[in-house]
Amino acid sequence: MDAPSISDFTGTITAIATAAKALSEAIGGLRSKVKGNKEVDEIASAALERVLAVQSTALDLQTMAFGLQQELAETKHQLVELQEENSRLRAQIREKDEWAAERKKYRLEAVPSGSAAVVRDETPGIYYCPSCFQASGRAIPLQPVRTTRQTQRFGSHVCPVCSTVLQLGTAR
Ligand SMILES: [Zn+2]
Repeated sequence: MDAPSISDFTGTITAIATAAKALSEAIGGLRSKVKGNKEVDEIASAALERVLAVQSTALDLQTMAFGLQQELAETKHQLVELQEENSRLRAQIREKDEWAAERKKYRLEAVPSGSAAVVRDETPGIYYCPSCFQASGRAIPLQPVRTTRQTQRFGSHVCPVCSTVLQLGTAR
């Protein structure tokens, strides 16, 4: 069975308010019929006072229920936002963990131009740009330079992203 909701509560209060209104009208009608009977009039007055108090309480409760409904809506909204932020952060952590594991597979290897290229045992023969790897953690494969005398003087491979040039030699 579902827990009673705020709208169940509001419905009950509204029913009470409606009943109280009908009761006050009935008492009013009764009073007009027994005009002149002081005793009945006093009882009716006292009853009416109580009914009015009930009506007033019902109104207060309706206002409170409305306030609670607003708060609940706001809380639900915050919950959704927090859940979204949580899954965003979890995804970020997962990405970092995955990258940390992936990064361990890469290492620096000295190349003939005197610097070092990034290599990965799983992809032998491919050299990755050391500058991009250092700067952004991205593994950018170095591309062979089209062999003209001009370019060969500077290096054999170039990074398509940052244009770092390395001489990788021809031994491999
Ligand atoms: Zn690069």
